[in-house]
Amino acid sequence: MAKLGFPFTLGVASGEPSADGVILWTRLAVEPLHASKTGGMPNQAFSVKWELAEDAAFSRIVQSGAAPAQPDWAHSVHVRVSGLRAWTEYFYRFSVDGHTSPVGRTKTAPGPDSTEPIRIGVISCQRYEHGFFTVLKHLAAERPDVIFHLGDYVYEYGKPANPQPGRYLRPLESTEECKTLAAYRRRYARYQLDKDLQAAHAAAPWIAMPDDHEVRDNYAGLLPGDGSSQAAFVKRRNAAYKAYYEHLPLRVRPVGNNLQFYRWRPYGKVADFLFVDARQYRSGRNMLGTEQQEWLTTRLTASTARWKVLAQPLFFAPRKFPLEPPSADAWDGFPDSRAKVLAAATGDLVVLSGDVHNAWAAELGNGVEFVTSSVTSRPPSTDGSATLALNPHLKYFDGRRGYLMVTASMTDFTVDYRAVAFVDQPGAPVVTAAGFRVLNNKLQRTDL
Ligand code: FE
Ligand code: CA
Repeated sequence: MAKLGFPFTLGVASGEPSADGVILWTRLAVEPLHASKTGGMPNQAFSVKWELAEDAAFSRIVQSGAAPAQPDWAHSVHVRVSGLRAWTEYFYRFSVDGHTSPVGRTKTAPGPDSTEPIRIGVISCQRYEHGFFTVLKHLAAERPDVIFHLGDYVYEYGKPANPQPGRYLRPLESTEECKTLAAYRRRYARYQLDKDLQAAHAAAPWIAMPDDHEVRDNYAGLLPGDGSSQAAFVKRRNAAYKAYYEHLPLRVRPVGNNLQFYRWRPYGKVADFLFVDARQYRSGRNMLGTEQQEWLTTRLTASTARWKVLAQPLFFAPRKFPLEPPSADAWDGFPDSRAKVLAAATGDLVVLSGDVHNAWAAELGNGVEFVTSSVTSRPPSTDGSATLALNPHLKYFDGRRGYLMVTASMTDFTVDYRAVAFVDQPGAPVVTAAGFRVLNNKLQRTDL
């Protein structure tokens, strides 16, 4: 067989940190955007070597092995590493056919008795054609302990026939909307060729939760949301979930029509992170579905961690707008589901969310909410100050692109809102737009 071209074009990633393990990820793709052959790869399996070390120079390798990259899974590699030390930094790399991947940095979660503070980066909504991933570059440079991606990792849209000026800044690989497995795979490849996205993956382990655009705008459960055939949509959703799995360091594979995204990630005595799936199980007025709702209620009630952190895509606090009705797609459309979550939380609840492409902060009564802005996705035209005036429990608005840098400790939960002034060109510096501390379920500015 001819020697393979360089196959690590999409970088490396790690995710799902536990106290003793992590998932390592890469995908072999010699021509990631190849029109017909997935990743430009031969239709055969490869055995990919992986190494995990205590240092970036790999002089102290602690584990190594081989993992399969199969054509049925777009030659993606998911290595479940276990037996690691808690709360420890590691470095990893892959090799195949004489090629070696870039090096990634990862970190395990703390053990159950740990009181160590945790630094978390929070991001959402990275629409490729809307700009440069400068936000991800700055986030990577902070080397947080863990990164939460709260949805809209890719957008399914094609190129509009007549894009508004300044709205189609970077060309996609196709002008068509994604509907098939091949199309979703090429969309992920388009995004993951971006060096800033690669840097963010290589900088820290990720825990990711998809929202709607990984499949289709505003879909709900098994309903496409546009009145088209449900059978066709189920096929499309399955393709989209499979592609999502293939491109992210997830612990579980899709099974049948499902991919279980909701999960609990404990970080010592400091925080219980509860990742909630707000899309897959929707029906009627029920956002989470009965099973997930019960799981969440049990977890919230049982949690003895200092902070109970709900990480999920959608704006959680009630929000009235000066002109439009509240968003029916977010929690405002599901008030009963929201009331159940709030009733199960006995205080010190922190909701992390995204989706709205602007930064917000809110008080919830027995908790608070921090809403991250988008990485690039254009915001709707929102009158921030008028909306704040209408909603006294909303305490902050910022209309720039950005991310959250969170520090959770036994005494404090602090959030810095990082922002960049532009994404239509690379190179914007990052600033801290605001800082907050949580005090008895209220928000206190730390930067004024
Ligand atoms: Fe979005
Ligand atoms: Ca969304």
